[in-house]
Amino acid sequence: MKILIIEDEPSLRELIQRSLEKERYVVETADSYIVGLRKLEDYDYDCILLDIMLPDGDGLSLLEKIKDMRKRECVIIISAKDSLEDKVSGLDLGADDYLPKPFHMAELSARVKSVIRRRHYQGSASVEVGNVSVFIDKRQVTVEGKNLDLNKKEYDILLYFANCPGRLVDKAVLAESVWGDHIDQVDNFDFVYAQIKNLRKKLNAAGANIEIKAVYKFGYKLIVE
Ligand code: CA
Repeated sequence: MKILIIEDEPSLRELIQRSLEKERYVVETADSYIVGLRKLEDYDYDCILLDIMLPDGDGLSLLEKIKDMRKRECVIIISAKDSLEDKVSGLDLGADDYLPKPFHMAELSARVKSVIRRRHYQGSASVEVGNVSVFIDKRQVTVEGKNLDLNKKEYDILLYFANCPGRLVDKAVLAESVWGDHIDQVDNFDFVYAQIKNLRKKLNAAGANIEIKAVYKFGYKLIVE
């Protein structure tokens, strides 16, 4: 799960980043309207935290752009302007939630979980694929009810595929989602292969009836056997 924070106040931005990283999200940041816009044009995220008053533009107009790009990200507005007007325009423009500053990190974290669950999982707390269940809030995986121990990357990879069984996934797109935006600078994706290999072994040993198949030169695809 990858989150983009668009917030110009450095101390708040870093606090949010640290707190979400502790919850094992991949976190990217933008400190201005233009940096946020560029990131949104180049990359995909699962959730965006959007400040309204940015030094070089208005978060609400960035929200309009996000909607024009038909992106699937959920958006939570974080705004110091605790005015009803901002809240109404934000939600009218398609934001999923609105959180007035100052807020507690625990509150932000709960809102992030809730919008992601609502938007990407139809409100459900788990994703089922074959005989495998992925419990999103707890970051837990079971195969036929039995716990499967995965490291952070293995879990993120499995969750990514569980969301799109049967779909061909470009390895660069997968890498960006699991490792972060900077990954487009790398020369090869051997590290993706290494994690997938271990994940496959663990799934296989646990008796999972799903398999992540390699598609020559392109990427991978999750198959339910
Ligand atoms: Ca601001």
